[in-house]
Amino acid sequence: MGIELLVNLTYVAAAVLFIFGLKMLGSPATARKGNLVSAIGMFLAVVVTLLDQSIIDYKWIGLGIVLGGVVGAVVARSVAMTSMPEMVALFNGTGGIASLLVGWAALYGFDPNSFQMVTIVLSILIGGVTFTGSLIAYGKLSERMPGRPLVFGGQRIFNILLILGIVVSATLFVVNPDTIAYLYIVVALSLLLGVMLVIPIGGADMPVVISLLNSYSGLAACAAGLAINNIILIVAGALVGASGIILTQIMCKAMNRSLSNVLFSGFSAVASGGAAAKIEGEAKPMSADDAYYVLEAASSVVIVPGYGMAVAQAQHAVKELQEILEKNGAEVVYAIHPVAGRMPGHMNVLLAEADVSYDLLLEMDAVNPRMETFDVAIVIGANDVVNPAAREMEGSPIYGMPVINVDMARNVFVMKRSMASGFAGIDNPLFFKDNTRMLFGDAKEMLGNIIKAFG
Ligand code: NDP
Repeated sequence: MGIELLVNLTYVAAAVLFIFGLKMLGSPATARKGNLVSAIGMFLAVVVTLLDQSIIDYKWIGLGIVLGGVVGAVVARSVAMTSMPEMVALFNGTGGIASLLVGWAALYGFDPNSFQMVTIVLSILIGGVTFTGSLIAYGKLSERMPGRPLVFGGQRIFNILLILGIVVSATLFVVNPDTIAYLYIVVALSLLLGVMLVIPIGGADMPVVISLLNSYSGLAACAAGLAINNIILIVAGALVGASGIILTQIMCKAMNRSLSNVLFSGFSAVASGGAAAKIEGEAKPMSADDAYYVLEAASSVVIVPGYGMAVAQAQHAVKELQEILEKNGAEVVYAIHPVAGRMPGHMNVLLAEADVSYDLLLEMDAVNPRMETFDVAIVIGANDVVNPAAREMEGSPIYGMPVINVDMARNVFVMKRSMASGFAGIDNPLFFKDNTRMLFGDAKEMLGNIIKAFG
């Protein structure tokens, strides 16, 4: 069997592993295995790519593998769970710049035909936009730069001119590949476009932007794959591109917003408009001991985790309380909102870390119809995703967003440190409802106190 056939067959096997891996990532029960299956696919792809006859020097490749591997391992081990979206932003950015460089290098390896010229320019263009766009998203998320939308007069016209400039210089370059100056213009304008597209978007919407940029990084890789005629790069890029855009859609739907609303109108601007609708009432605080008396008598409990659980790192304490309640004869389930926390799957990952059984995790649509049957709903550091204003207050910035209807349970316990608002920056009428009691404090400490009360 020729080397080329071996390489291509292995690529097909790797592509199959990617697809099965992705499928497995769709459920928390198989997600870890899915990650491993995809990683094996990538490992195979990398190994057979190294067999390629046209590699003339392994020195730089080896250096890249060692450097990239060490940096990736150190960063992945040290990053806090709450900073995961920032890390994903940086990863997308590196994917973008890699595609830009691969596309660019392809100009020198062989004599590209016109189709390949187009794909080379596309990989450079999309890679450039992804790179700088991701850096800005990282800056906004990590608060290294202001999170508010940065806008100036004539910005849209400027962006349109920028895009026109890219189209014209890219076309000129494809037609006259010898005039490298056109390519330099494409590179420079693409890098600038990445910045311009992300600065007018509020920090609050960065997770959606990151998911979209993830999709772009896949498209850039796919274009680079076409440019250098590498099947696995095309397949992997297309998979990332498609899954990124699907995830973006899911996130938009869970927030009841359109993608164009996210991209072209800062969330913070919308939120400040609605913040005027102040909610009057008195919140009723309670102690851990009082919570214990109610929970001790409860026969069904739903736990609704949110971003605060991640901040408090309360997942192990939550699991401990779950076991105590179960021993006490209560049924305990978890209700997971698709955008609880700061990244898709945030709550699932944390609860999996604490070994919470997957079949106890119910999706919003499964739990809402039976909310009235729960004796107690315990909200742990969640705010927007349980805000009944989304159902009741027309004109609220989150009106229409699907939420977990905890207010319909017999009793609601809300664990948070203060009356502060959540991510969307709006008040929550849940805190003032007759059946709601506030457990003020850090979620982990508060859970610890309730567990102590159970003795
Ligand atoms: P929120 O941001 O609405 O609320 C989190 C709450 O946790 C805060 O009100 C805070 O109140 C509380 N909290 C913070 N630290 C602690 C702590 N140590 N102990 C106890 N409580 C704490 O979170 P949700 O999960 O309800 O909602 C997620 C939001 O993020 C939604 O608006 C969603 O649209 C948005 N979003 C999510 C994305 C995703 O992919 N998951 C992507 C994009 C946006 P206090 O300060 O009083 O303690």
